[in-house]
Amino acid sequence: MTNLTSTGPGTSRDTQDTGTGSGDGIGSGDVDIDVAVVGGGLAGLGAALTLGRARRSVLVIDAGHPRNAPAAHMHGYLTRDGENPLEMLRLGREEVRGYGGRVIQGTVVSITRFPDGRLRLTTAEGAGYRARRVVVATGLVDEYPDLPGLRERWGRDVVHCPYCFGWELRERALAVLGTSPLAVMAALMWRQWSGDVVLFLHTAPQPTAQQLAQLAARDVTVIPGEVAAIEIDQDRVTGVRLASGEVHPRDAVVVSPWFAARHDLLAPLGATLVEHPAGIGRQVQADASGFTGVPGVWVAGNVLDVTAGVMQSAASGVTAAAALNADLTLEDTTRAGNSAALPT
Ligand SMILES: Cc1cc2nc3c(=O)[nH]c(=O)nc-3n(C[C@H](O)[C@H](O)[C@H](O)COP(=O)(O)OP(=O)(O)OC[C@H]3O[C@@H](n4cnc5c(N)ncnc54)[C@H](O)[C@@H]3O)c2cc1C
Repeated sequence: MTNLTSTGPGTSRDTQDTGTGSGDGIGSGDVDIDVAVVGGGLAGLGAALTLGRARRSVLVIDAGHPRNAPAAHMHGYLTRDGENPLEMLRLGREEVRGYGGRVIQGTVVSITRFPDGRLRLTTAEGAGYRARRVVVATGLVDEYPDLPGLRERWGRDVVHCPYCFGWELRERALAVLGTSPLAVMAALMWRQWSGDVVLFLHTAPQPTAQQLAQLAARDVTVIPGEVAAIEIDQDRVTGVRLASGEVHPRDAVVVSPWFAARHDLLAPLGATLVEHPAGIGRQVQADASGFTGVPGVWVAGNVLDVTAGVMQSAASGVTAAAALNADLTLEDTTRAGNSAALPT
């Protein structure tokens, strides 16, 4: 196992929680590690846990803004259904540290390559790290309209994902905010969870005659016209206000954001960004293990698959870690000069 050459596992900084800590935690000057993981959400921590157990020195650098932070509960994670998302990450960091992995707070601003092939990570806090491999697990940005009320209620009663929030909103009065041709499908989907779904066309195109028939068949009311604001009263959504001033009482609003993978660190390295086949966002192109095709660079979680929920994200970190560890094993073997001794 390669140790961090600056401060080793077990220092007081290692116990610092990324949710509350500050600074880079290691100090100035490049620090050598086997694997740097950028992003300490479930994907990054899943990768780090596997790498720590594989006796690799691993450092997770996390800016501390996981995508699902606004939600009080996380759903669909087998055995942890209903857990608080931040508590889940705290537990994950503890597990990573239990195997000597390090998790620090910081923002990686660039990844460049040394002549020997290793990767240099620089943080906004001024630290530098030299890693043999990198996992980028920086998540995505949910881009949705800037309507008054939406951002305030995001992740509570303004939601996007039926598998995350549908059960809790069952049989409530739902508004689907149309922003693209996918609005019709969203309205039809949410009928699975509530019999009271209203589609506000807002900026979505006028549905075709066939789509209107489908919506009518599922008792979805269609309301034309632009939405001006989401009405909020006593810390909850109470309705949708149209530009005409008309207000429709509703309990919750469904939006379909554009899912924009955080790929800024990867583009300069030559990784490719592709549109998701369903036209719902952009993600980084990689093989099934998360390998980007850029030597030494893997991706995991939402940056790799914008549709990945919490379980898939954690699992993709594990997959990337196993593939990356195999790659390091071959490199270690070559370095040890064992390749020449292999039978032909
Ligand atoms: C409101 C909401 C609720 C959700 N609820 C559920 C649910 O109940 N069930 C479900 O299955 N899915 C849910 N999801 C989806 C879930 O959030 C994602 O599946 C999951 O967060 C993806 O994990 P990740 O590790 O890829 O990204 P994230 O959890 O977003 O973690 C990425 C981390 O990388 C950090 N980072 C970014 N850039 C840098 C950088 N340059 N340097 C260092 N760190 C950086 C970020 O600050 C963040 O901490 C929900 C999503 C939202 C928006």
